[in-house]
Amino acid sequence: MNFHGLLTVNDSGRLSTALTKLDENDLMPGEVTISVDYSTINYKDAMAISGRAVVIQSFPLVPGIDLAGTVEESSYPGIARGDRVVVNGWELGQTHHGGYAQFARVPGEWVVRLPDRLSTMEAMAIGTAGYTAMLCILALEHGGIEPSSGTVLVTGASGGVGSIAVALLSRLGYRVTASTGRIEESTYLRSLGASKIIDRAELSSPATDPLGTQRWSGAIDSVGSHTLVNVLSQTHDRGVVAACGLAQGTDLPGTVLPFILRNVTLAGIDSVHAPRELRELAWSRLADDLDREKLTQTMQTVGLGDVPGMVETLLAGRIRGRTVVDVNAIPRSTTGTGVVTS
Ligand code: NDP
Repeated sequence: MNFHGLLTVNDSGRLSTALTKLDENDLMPGEVTISVDYSTINYKDAMAISGRAVVIQSFPLVPGIDLAGTVEESSYPGIARGDRVVVNGWELGQTHHGGYAQFARVPGEWVVRLPDRLSTMEAMAIGTAGYTAMLCILALEHGGIEPSSGTVLVTGASGGVGSIAVALLSRLGYRVTASTGRIEESTYLRSLGASKIIDRAELSSPATDPLGTQRWSGAIDSVGSHTLVNVLSQTHDRGVVAACGLAQGTDLPGTVLPFILRNVTLAGIDSVHAPRELRELAWSRLADDLDREKLTQTMQTVGLGDVPGMVETLLAGRIRGRTVVDVNAIPRSTTGTGVVTS
């Protein structure tokens, strides 16, 4: 079995990623071998390939924290040859070869069968970002937030998590306000279902009032830092804020007052280690609740060799929505040289 993949190597702290020819011996241990159809580019993938954060922990490695494809071989109970599956999180693309290759072999417990209603391409248009958006919505629902509770805020709304969160919430009947630094994307965000757009500058400065005017029944925050503190201070009594990201920063420079005086819940979202039952629930809900036309609106498709060149654009916040990677779209001249990024 010969196939193509991106390989990231570490040369004395300098990471480079190139298109490479691989074979069966390059596959890692696991009970399930998957013929990969699609992967995707998440913020975390960009951090991994650029080396801006320590995401990849063993080298050389095929990056890519997401993949969807068809099972070639399986010795894992409940997963059979021909199943269409998705794998994301765990150690994929961190210590274990990830989604940017035409084949992957992974531990069976990482593998989730796709609902019949979702294609492998749709699964990667959703990807970790969309699946995380659904985990956030499950957290809001768990906290009792319903469409009748009031407006839900989505921060980082033009990004991957944000775009899908807006589309899902709107489809579920919530009134959605989208916070973005790209006001020029207002038309796009409205087409996904946002009823109001605010400039993220409204939320990104240090909070002046730990208990501001109550504006949000719930929020999905992919930004962190001052933005999350401001969101908490503006959340209704008994509201829920699902925190999944750190695009502004990892700090949380606020007070406990929203928690102890307004019963606000801060729900943490970790998609990487979510248990299988929660993953299956999230993918099933995505198959039911996501408007496919809106999903298509959020996505663009690129080939495997295009990934390294897109990293800086994504980190600069200039990619809208979701990017699907067709791992079988290989440039003709691939041997050895490929594409080097950093
Ligand atoms: P994207 O890069 O697609 O989107 C992030 C968005 O955040 C940008 O589009 C931008 O939106 C906004 N943003 C960027 N920089 C800043 C800034 N300095 N201040 C305020 N807003 C900013 O990333 P994803 O949607 O894939 O991921 C979003 C976040 O969620 C990331 O931090 C990622 O690491 C995290 N994440 C966490 C997961 C988990 O398991 N907890 C899983 C998946 C993602 P706009 O232009 O609209 O303002």
